[in-house]
Amino acid sequence: MNNNLKAHVLITGGAGFIGSHLADSLLADGYRVTVLDNLDPYYPVELKRINIDTNFTNPDYTFVEGDIVDMELLNSLPDDIDMIVHLAARAGVRPSIKDPVAYMETNVKGTQNMLEMARARDVKQFVFASSSSVYGINPNVPWSESDYVLKPISPYAASKVSGELIGHTYSHLYGIRFIALRFFTVFGPRQRPDLAINKFARLILKGEEIPVFGDGSTRRDYTYVKDIVAGIRGALAYKDSMYEIVNLGAGRTISLAEMIQSIEEVIGKKALINRLPEQPGDVPLTYASIDKAKELFGYSPQTTFKQGLENFKEWLIASALQGKNA
Ligand code: NAD
Repeated sequence: MNNNLKAHVLITGGAGFIGSHLADSLLADGYRVTVLDNLDPYYPVELKRINIDTNFTNPDYTFVEGDIVDMELLNSLPDDIDMIVHLAARAGVRPSIKDPVAYMETNVKGTQNMLEMARARDVKQFVFASSSSVYGINPNVPWSESDYVLKPISPYAASKVSGELIGHTYSHLYGIRFIALRFFTVFGPRQRPDLAINKFARLILKGEEIPVFGDGSTRRDYTYVKDIVAGIRGALAYKDSMYEIVNLGAGRTISLAEMIQSIEEVIGKKALINRLPEQPGDVPLTYASIDKAKELFGYSPQTTFKQGLENFKEWLIASALQGKNA
């Protein structure tokens, strides 16, 4: 990095839910940020435009619309990038079962391309968005980074394990510091509309039925987006080793039934439940050990589930009033 310049971070997928929060956080602390995002229509593009709108007047912000699979485009990006946070992906377990080829193209080939770009430009810090789904069905809770993860149960999970593996190869061969962060169900303002909290809250507000898969006993470790951003910032600052895999969760679990009840309380309205069979590829439980994140990054999640839901509701109501939520 040129010492006269602010550090320059490339965020792939930076128009999305997590990436746009990260961009805001880095810009607020004086970083230069380039976002590369193809504005994938997986959910309404207008939501992504709203996520990034306010940054366009910031001289430290550059937005590039394009695809991580397009190597020519990657080669044309600014050559003074110091760090890469690679979040661009096809996300979601269930859609990956419907279209596994597209998931592998974006998540595996795209990650390979990003690492190739890092190698060609001598970028030395690479943070990769992995997922709790790599743990598959793992009865040993809380899940630890040293647990066996080579039995993924969805194409999405397999694509994320692959990213962790390719990252190791590039770290070993080319001295790129590679940190894979396994995010556990992230929620908060701007949450993807396909994720349960967002979907349920909108349906409950409209007085419509919510689709509930299984008997409500499945459990998730829900993590507030601001805590995830703090964890990513921790990974960007980390220098002590060359390859790490780190869970970012809240370190506690909440059942589906409890989640629905909490949304009802925050919104002040009862849910109408449409009970459906459990979905293939879904896991019964996710539960992060966050000891390693604490030790390596001083990670310490700050936001309670209830507070996070309150913040989410405020955002949802504001964006619904503008008629802009999906
Ligand atoms: P998101 O869909 O809101 O953001 C991803 C962004 O990547 C989108 O803006 C999309 O347009 C972009 N993108 C997709 N394909 C692209 C391509 N080929 N080229 C360039 N850009 C592309 O999702 P998110 O929830 O913010 O997730 C960010 C990352 O975190 C993803 O890698 C996801 O797999 C991972 N993750 C998320 C969660 C969660 O709970 N949200 C949990 C585990 C892991």
